[in-house]
Amino acid sequence: MSKKKIAIYTATGCRVCENVILDIHYQVSSLSRLFDIAFWPYVLGSRWNDFEKAPLMDICFYAGAVSTESDREAAIRLREKSQILIAIGACASFGGMPGLVNLRTKATPETSAGEKAELSESPPPLPRVEHLVSALSQVVDVDYDIPGCPPTQNLVWAAIQAFSGWKGSTSNLSYAASRLPEPISQAIVSGVFPPKKSTFAGEKAVCASCSRKKEEKKFSNAKRPYETYESTGRCLLEQGLVCQGIATREGCGGLCTGVGLPCRGCFGKPPAVYDPGAKMVSAISSTFDSEKAGEIKKIVEKFHDLTGTFYRYNLPSQCELLRALRGNL
Ligand code: SF4
Ligand code: SF4
Ligand code: SF4
Repeated sequence: MSKKKIAIYTATGCRVCENVILDIHYQVSSLSRLFDIAFWPYVLGSRWNDFEKAPLMDICFYAGAVSTESDREAAIRLREKSQILIAIGACASFGGMPGLVNLRTKATPETSAGEKAELSESPPPLPRVEHLVSALSQVVDVDYDIPGCPPTQNLVWAAIQAFSGWKGSTSNLSYAASRLPEPISQAIVSGVFPPKKSTFAGEKAVCASCSRKKEEKKFSNAKRPYETYESTGRCLLEQGLVCQGIATREGCGGLCTGVGLPCRGCFGKPPAVYDPGAKMVSAISSTFDSEKAGEIKKIVEKFHDLTGTFYRYNLPSQCELLRALRGNL
């Protein structure tokens, strides 16, 4: 069987998603044994001229958010020439941390005449910044997502197995990957692609795979991680830490909560949650350990940057209020 041609690209992102793929190459299985790597600027120094001459790609892994005109152009070119386009990582899947820039209230400043002259004298000019940062699916049609910041190696390896047609032992799949939805688990074993628009992660919330014990549903005092440490294994939300496991898709196996850090939502929302921020506000406020307005005010005053907390990884595509406003921006 001939190997599938792949392209790997990062737009606005930190490149750690690409490094997860590289880790698989060095630690699990040689990528060139599984794929014909036809375009990978970061690692192989591939150029767009070579991409234009290359035949159709079977699979493209696109990491990073779309925040500049060159990101958008890359998304369109890669979509046009790839049979399967996969958004890898929270930036590509939801807009990621670069998407927090959408909270700004002022328009991007126009480039002044002086700056324009300076830019034209010192080519290459920087690409134009888009007015709003977008998830990949807000720019082109995306076939599959692998969420996470970065996605865990297990989930990326699961996707590589599913799409390369690799047939081998699945015994090295971890707990996290073994909790994947049935069609994806089957794809890993059989090589039959999962239905389009599938996500390589679980379907429930992180709480479902978190090892911490939920005892009393009461929220009495908001704390930050450096202010508290309990070795009891109690649910972090019950300790006063704003843990977003309730509103986040499972798949990581509770990596952060396992070491005492609250979940920050890097897998995006699970299908049953409409808006992660609204879900968190409703979950926390319904467990306030008081009914007195003054005491509730004191709890609320201790919260810090709730928008940046609840939408840290997904503001452009999963904040329903912003999505509704986006049409008017
Ligand atoms: S999802 Fe996270 S790891 Fe991947 S490019 Fe974005 S910031 Fe980097
Ligand atoms: S809220 Fe956080 S700590 Fe508590 S069970 Fe859910 S994921 Fe675990
Ligand atoms: S616990 Fe939350 S923030 Fe941490 S890796 Fe899992 S989904 Fe991401």
